[in-house]
Amino acid sequence: MNTFEDFNIKKQLRKAIDDLGFEKPTPIQQESYSTILGGGDFVGIAQTGTGKTIAYLLPVLQDLKFSDQLQPRVLILAPTRELVIQIVEQVEILTPYLSVRVLGVYGGSNNIIAQKQALTQGVDIIVGTPRRLYDLALSNLLRLKSIKKLVIDEVDIMLDFGYKTQLKNIFEHLPVKRQNILFSATMTQYVDELTDDFLVNPIKKTISISGTPLENISQECYAVPNFYTKANLLKHLLEDQNEFSKVLVFVATKVHADRLFELLNSESEISVIHSSKEQNHRTKSIEKFVDGTSRILIATDVIARGIDIEKITTVISFNTPFYAENYIHRIGRTGRAKQRGRAILFYTEKETVLKDSIETLMNYKIPISEIHEDVVVSHELTPEEKEKPVEQLNLSDKRSITESGASFHEKSAKNSKAKTEKKSYSKSLKEKFKKPIRRGDKIQNMKKKRKR
Ligand code: AMP
Repeated sequence: MNTFEDFNIKKQLRKAIDDLGFEKPTPIQQESYSTILGGGDFVGIAQTGTGKTIAYLLPVLQDLKFSDQLQPRVLILAPTRELVIQIVEQVEILTPYLSVRVLGVYGGSNNIIAQKQALTQGVDIIVGTPRRLYDLALSNLLRLKSIKKLVIDEVDIMLDFGYKTQLKNIFEHLPVKRQNILFSATMTQYVDELTDDFLVNPIKKTISISGTPLENISQECYAVPNFYTKANLLKHLLEDQNEFSKVLVFVATKVHADRLFELLNSESEISVIHSSKEQNHRTKSIEKFVDGTSRILIATDVIARGIDIEKITTVISFNTPFYAENYIHRIGRTGRAKQRGRAILFYTEKETVLKDSIETLMNYKIPISEIHEDVVVSHELTPEEKEKPVEQLNLSDKRSITESGASFHEKSAKNSKAKTEKKSYSKSLKEKFKKPIRRGDKIQNMKKKRKR
């Protein structure tokens, strides 16, 4: 599947691709085309810039037959109005020779009347933000029972924006029998839970940022006992202002981000961004980092993914990411445009298993560096470290990632997840409300009721 010829797409689509001047499919397009076309559930881990939109649009359009039915057959959900507009544009540039009706719906302006009118004209593909989409579904003008394929783009951002409830509400209106296609730039616990709760044996493909060869990045790691020692080590490294002139520090959570910022804040050259910070603050922090006013930016995975900053000298993973894919995304922020980059990973004893997964994914053992003797080893523990001493931590739910490079592993999720102790969102809800959550459960429960 290395060329568009291999895709065997209909001639109208092929002509549009030729008009666009695309020579060959990008890696995510090569990886996902036939799987999505095959009709099974799919999760793609790929960032903006990898060609991910066309990766799902091509197979969806290839499969879409002409119809004059009024209600849409494809639903694409996106977290922001900007992304909705971009997706609609991409559908339009792919379909000048096909008769496909696409409509973008989003809130924020007084356009719901126009959107309602457009709906009455008939739509094949509806693209929307969750809230507006749900409002339209409630108005009964939009009937989601006609949907055959559901695409959720930028799932990580969607969940980080707190759209989980909206998504679940929308799912309630969708037919049980449908194809689910999820795209996310990073893996997060919520993405994993959503996948686990609503997808059926999805096939998962991961693509790192295109054009970021790992050879450009020198990697090293430090074994560090705890958070406060990591902070001391970080301070020590950052003393070398020449070597560390533009540093992106990744942390696991917002709490970690704020705590680390407090610890390092004596130096005004540090900014912090995470999703609880207001947009204004985030924009300012990024601007300061871009123009060099601040030398160091502390960020969480999801929030960092949307920013494109040139000339980052070093990426420091203050925590070892739970999902190995996220490490690849993190270090891809340095070493761009043929410049050499440096990536440093801190790992505690309990994070060793995560580091192992990363190394397996990359097929590369990260060289270990010695901590300088000036770095003070702290015995103080954070509240989280106190809560979960190393020996009690259950890492059995860490998925094994065995293939390297642009990795691919079929997720035997339904079965393997059942064995793990991590409580999924749906499970907690079920326990709390005793309500059916999973697809199909409703029908099962109705059947049971009738028997009684
Ligand atoms: P995306 O990752 O979907 O945001 O796409 C990033 C950009 O890559 C968009 O401007 C696409 O039009 C472009 N693109 C998508 N597929 C290809 C391709 N096969 N060859 C060249 N450019 C592409």
